[in-house]
Amino acid sequence: FKAIEKIEEKKETTDLSEYSGIWVFAEQRDKKIMPVVIELLGEGKKLAAEIGCELSAVVCGSGIGNLADELFEYGADKVYVADSPELEKYTTDGYTKVIFEAIGKYKPEIVLLGATHIGRDLGPCLAVKANTGLTADCTKLEIDPDDKKIKQTRPAFGGNLMATIVCPNHRPQMSTVRPGVMDKAAKVSGRKGETVKLSVSFSEGEIRTKVVDVVKHLKEMVSLTDAEIIVSGGKGMKGPEGFELLRQLSHRLGGVVAASRAAVDAGWMDHAYQVGQTGTTVKPKIYIACGISGAIQHIAGMQNSEQIIAINSAENAPIFEVADYGIVGDLFKVIPAIIDELDKQ
Ligand code: FAD
Repeated sequence: FKAIEKIEEKKETTDLSEYSGIWVFAEQRDKKIMPVVIELLGEGKKLAAEIGCELSAVVCGSGIGNLADELFEYGADKVYVADSPELEKYTTDGYTKVIFEAIGKYKPEIVLLGATHIGRDLGPCLAVKANTGLTADCTKLEIDPDDKKIKQTRPAFGGNLMATIVCPNHRPQMSTVRPGVMDKAAKVSGRKGETVKLSVSFSEGEIRTKVVDVVKHLKEMVSLTDAEIIVSGGKGMKGPEGFELLRQLSHRLGGVVAASRAAVDAGWMDHAYQVGQTGTTVKPKIYIACGISGAIQHIAGMQNSEQIIAINSAENAPIFEVADYGIVGDLFKVIPAIIDELDKQ
């Protein structure tokens, strides 16, 4: 009860009118802006136009001052830069302290982060410290025309319904957003903005973790989110050798091979290649779904592809409902026939 009373007390003292502007957490790795940041800036620009506010980015790291120029070109009006050797590698304590202090000082109304490993760690820490809410893993953001609050939509109950969440009484309103869902911001070369340097100072032992080494996981090399053509296989591939067939097709198309969760769970492909609600969200030009039934959790990760081609032996498979082109047939006959045709060209 005491905890509830405390929240109620804070609720009454939060003056929502003090908060304005949209912030995008500009996650960088090895001094390179992550693709999801460009997507958040694209979405942030649209939201900022609807509210009539400024769009800012906040970037942390060491020797990253020149990233501000890139962020201006992708639509940030202002860039808050925390540049210090202590921030060279991400640490929960280090990043949380710097950004929390900046939120307290500059009071953004909305803070957006990518639902990457770092964003999923940092977002909740910031939200707890700022005594506000956070909607994790959003797939859609909208501004309510009546009260200008942000409506945050995310899959819930195992992807069986989409929940729309608002944060009525606390600020900032915070969301992590799935990579690959929003459209990237257009680059305007030479566009300029205002840089604000954030102060960084840590006392001895304040950052309780030290990054000793970074070992790159396979997922970073796969880059499903950047692929223009994805050839994806499901349980219908029957085994790892079925994926060999997909590799042959993908090789000819210049694509990347991916998989459904059933194929990943069967051990035929690494989880890094999984598309869907608990895998990666993709938006390629062409998505070829082979032997994939089209469960809602799979569809959630690929439905925004520009063209979807489905190959399935069951004509009533749900995947055909989202497919632009469907081939009803045995994929072990259809795919070799496509490969033969491609080889003739
Ligand atoms: P199946 O549903 O078994 O479909 C196999 C298909 O292959 C069938 O349609 C069949 O007709 C076809 N087929 C068989 N033989 C042939 C052939 N010779 N030629 C042509 N077609 C053939 N799933 C994901 O994919 N990604 C996720 O991120 C994900 N997250 C989940 C999260 C939760 C919380 C839950 C509950 C489930 C999740 N799932 C996810 C699982 C999802 O519900 C399905 O179980 C899964 O997508 C099914 O994979 P599939 O289509 O490969 O297999």
